[in-house]
Amino acid sequence: MRRKLVEELKGKGIREEAVLTAIGTVPRHLFIDDSAFQSRAYEDTAFPIPCGQTISQPYTVAFQSELLQLTRGMKVLEVGTGSGYQCAVLSAMGARVFSIERHRPLYLQTKARLAALGYRASLYHGDGYLGLEREAPFDRVIVTCGAPMVPAALLAQLKAGGRAVIPVGEGEVQRMVLIQKEMDGRLVQADQGVFRFVPMLADKAS
Ligand code: SAH
Repeated sequence: MRRKLVEELKGKGIREEAVLTAIGTVPRHLFIDDSAFQSRAYEDTAFPIPCGQTISQPYTVAFQSELLQLTRGMKVLEVGTGSGYQCAVLSAMGARVFSIERHRPLYLQTKARLAALGYRASLYHGDGYLGLEREAPFDRVIVTCGAPMVPAALLAQLKAGGRAVIPVGEGEVQRMVLIQKEMDGRLVQADQGVFRFVPMLADKAS
């Protein structure tokens, strides 16, 4: 089923071998709790997860992962841990992932899940708008919830030469924005099309 999903993503334009290999490896069915959806885990669809959130569609995960242009050992900040699936894909690609989630139950559940599956990511319960100052700077930043605007702290914590991939927009849909920080600190933005995410909310929930 995973192999079929990889073929489907290739057909939709995903090219990077490391991304396809990671999607072909990470057991997505173990990131979905609801048994009604578990059997459909290798469909290219988003599904509900606890706290009213969603596990992103595999195509979206692959698309964002590809835009990052990762190399092994890079330090990546993810905002919106959710199920941990995107985090696992980046970890499988050899990234050192630092991921923030605002819902404590999700943070706790996903921390246990990733550890049980052997993914070595650092998870935090907190507000992604603030980034993670104590681990900054990052080679890459990925946001997996819809941000009303580009959070300033996340760009401040991005290395010169780094890339950030952030869905920006309020309401139903967002534009995927790729931001490159030049060596002189200048920011260059490129629109990568329309996507649909749960909203990035301010402050952490309990
Ligand atoms: N990457 C996840 C996607 C989960 S949906 C996956 O692969 O499953 C997005 C997540 O972002 C939700 O869990 C939501 O609670 C979280 N989120 C929203 N606003 C946030 C914020 N300000 N800080 C941290 N996490 C946030």
